[in-house]
Amino acid sequence: MCGIIGISNHPEASKLAYLGLYALQHRGEEASGIATYDGEGVHIIKDKGLVVDVFQSSQIASLKGNVAIAHTRYSTTGSSNKKNCQPFLVTHRSRPVAIAHNGNLTNTEQLYQRLEEGGSIFQTSMDSEVIIHLLARTPNGDHKKWLSTVLSQLEGAFSLVFMIEGTIIGARDPHGFRPLVLGRLEKGYILASESCALDLTMAEFVREIEPGEVVMINGDKIESFFLPAAAQAKKAQCIFENIYFARPDSHIFNDNVYQVRKRLGAQLAKEAPVVDADFVMPIPDSGVYAALGYADELDLPYEIGMIRNHYVGRTFIQPVQMMRDFRVRVKLNPIREIIRGKKVVVVEDSIVRGTTSRSRIREIRNAGAKEIHMRISCPPIIAPCYYGIDFPSAKELIAHDRSVQEIAKFIEVDSLAYLSLEGMLSVMKDGPRFCRACFSGEYPVPPPLNTSKYLLEGARK
Ligand code: AMP
Repeated sequence: MCGIIGISNHPEASKLAYLGLYALQHRGEEASGIATYDGEGVHIIKDKGLVVDVFQSSQIASLKGNVAIAHTRYSTTGSSNKKNCQPFLVTHRSRPVAIAHNGNLTNTEQLYQRLEEGGSIFQTSMDSEVIIHLLARTPNGDHKKWLSTVLSQLEGAFSLVFMIEGTIIGARDPHGFRPLVLGRLEKGYILASESCALDLTMAEFVREIEPGEVVMINGDKIESFFLPAAAQAKKAQCIFENIYFARPDSHIFNDNVYQVRKRLGAQLAKEAPVVDADFVMPIPDSGVYAALGYADELDLPYEIGMIRNHYVGRTFIQPVQMMRDFRVRVKLNPIREIIRGKKVVVVEDSIVRGTTSRSRIREIRNAGAKEIHMRISCPPIIAPCYYGIDFPSAKELIAHDRSVQEIAKFIEVDSLAYLSLEGMLSVMKDGPRFCRACFSGEYPVPPPLNTSKYLLEGARK
């Protein structure tokens, strides 16, 4: 995943970038960075860690300039070391170029090979560095031609922000896998992965950057053009952003995430009702909105049967397996007085590996539940994602080679049901514009040639 921000023409660009990152923290907890340009040079701070840990307020003041780009990282390719933190900054022909990237490219290996044969030396294991090398090797008098030539060589998923001296550029791949929105500041603009970052910076939502669109912002002037491939490319917005990843208060892909999740829950209730349950409860926070929709649809009571400790982050982003297990235990606590002796419907947004769900269900069982019926507001995840979500290998996906019944047994529930693929698409605005490769195994862009290398990269995290 990753969250990206671009700010143009604001006297406190670095502070706004900081606030924007703060709002996008859920998109990656591994590393954060901000780069600014003050007309003479670039100032950059980046490190491993959460936004609040990486930046001290005195340091933010040292990030001078009225343009900025920023990044919060969640690694899908590239190991999690300091060199891989973004924004990634280079100087080319005395001109500073910085980039922040969300999404995964699928032709990195071919591009690497070509560039290495041409003499490029790579400093990181990030696919984003490839883009920088392509920029350096392409004639670069005119920004529009330059970007169009470079971005047209990329395949896969990219939402990007660049800072080339004082110009801020935003781009989305022609399929539109990852979101990118545009907001208006008093005299300038903000680009952000999600609209929740606009709310915190008091920016006015203007619109989403279209799939295949590139916007170039100079001061308060904005210019836009489309990559040649945009006209033909099948739209493939990541449906998992709506199901789980994006913040519920965000507006992305032409919809509000909270409302999408409620609709998914209501559809799930139509397809797999448990009409005589005592109540519906979510696995917080991810299942909250679908559970509301489910309970609403069946007119069942809604209870918060587990309380989340808000002082620990999302579990799966942590790269070390041991830490993940620890965080599962520390994060949620069931309320015995609510659960004891009850027939409960437990709603969760998705099951990936199944291990977290199993431990949650065990906790609910230990709290005295009489029956547990689990309902999932998306279809079984059967195939890896090559476009930026960390569903690394088919082997690790519990639904890859198991039936729903087998999964129910593993998770130790009395019954289990998933939302159907058709049902899920039916509640999306413009369902055909979404990528659902993780549910169907049908990839809108061919996976990387050497998926085992890709998976190795993933496994190294
Ligand atoms: P589990 O039962 O272990 O598969 O964990 C399921 C919970 O983790 C659900 O809330 C998922 O939505 C959430 N999750 C979301 N994305 C991922 C991911 N890439 N890897 C693991 N778990 C994820």
